[in-house]
Amino acid sequence: MEVKLNKATPEQLKTTPASMSGVVFGTQFSDHMFCMEWEDGKGWHNAEIKPYGPLLMEPSAMVLHYAQMAFEGLKVYRTDSGENVLFRPRENFKRMNRTAQRMCLPEIDVEEVLDALKQLLRLDSAWVPHESGTTLYIRPTIVATEEAIGLKVSSKYLFFIILSPVGPYYSQGFNPVKIMVSDKYVRAVPGGVGYAKTGGNYAASILAEKEAKELGYTQVLWLDAVERRYIEEVGAMNIFFVIDDEIVTPQLTGSILPGITRMSVLELGKHWGLNVSARRISIDEVLTGLKEGSVTEVFGAGTAAVISPVGVLSYKEEEYQVGNGETGPIANRFFEQLTGIQYGKEEDPFDWVESF
Ligand SMILES: *Cc1c(COP(=O)(O)O)cnc(C)c1O
Repeated sequence: MEVKLNKATPEQLKTTPASMSGVVFGTQFSDHMFCMEWEDGKGWHNAEIKPYGPLLMEPSAMVLHYAQMAFEGLKVYRTDSGENVLFRPRENFKRMNRTAQRMCLPEIDVEEVLDALKQLLRLDSAWVPHESGTTLYIRPTIVATEEAIGLKVSSKYLFFIILSPVGPYYSQGFNPVKIMVSDKYVRAVPGGVGYAKTGGNYAASILAEKEAKELGYTQVLWLDAVERRYIEEVGAMNIFFVIDDEIVTPQLTGSILPGITRMSVLELGKHWGLNVSARRISIDEVLTGLKEGSVTEVFGAGTAAVISPVGVLSYKEEEYQVGNGETGPIANRFFEQLTGIQYGKEEDPFDWVESF
């Protein structure tokens, strides 16, 4: 794939943030972006790296009406030796293609898009922050751009990648969060699009997240839509429980987003010889276990926070504390090892990180 390079002029270049403290997640963007277009009969074409800026799109562009789209989220980490690395980036682009299949979007070539991303990252490498715990967040997106408001499969698409520097997730330390189990709303239904990273899933979750925040909880834990009984996942994280000596996460049923952090925790746990599994877990099993003490840890796993310990679960207006409300040893071990691999402090026996 030929990538045209249209560099920002000196006047267009922005200044990178002097300090990442106080930079709100996802509000600043680097100097350049990658774009390419797709059209029926033509495939992907017009691949170009150009200055970050507004997209030209008609109000009738189909994505603005029916949300035919896919997105991804991954990060660049700056290691102690000064290298910039990606963490399992092919998994993100493979997942983007699975989302594309479900949303009738054209698939991308994983290796070609990864190459284009690396070119973009080399050009904007000054935007990878250096402070401990910081990253450059990468947001690849595909949107339907045909100018038509009749519902059908679009004949035109735009793929773009934008970059956003982000501060350390745990500026206040590795503190457990309070989570509300939603018994009023559901996120995804069997046969629906829950496993796809597509905008509609998040639009549908905003109200529940807003209501939970008003009550003092940081995120929502979703239950299955049919019986409202089996645990699914948290807003933008998968969830793990330590039950006796078992480290367990809900199995992928089609309504859960298959997280790359989730997969990495399962693989790492197995590598350590721990008893890890993916199976159905009911809310009753968790609440009984919390009361009786067999559930000792609850933690989320996702690219944003890597590991996010849960200190309190709320269900039907009752609060359940997890352990003594502090971060448990297993969550801590996964956090230290995964971030250690990402920042080049620990060995990477699986070749998960990739420099460019
Ligand atoms: C992105 C996402 C995750 C986590 O996936 P990672 O690949 O680990 O970042 C989990 N749940 C939902 C709903 C998500 O959107």
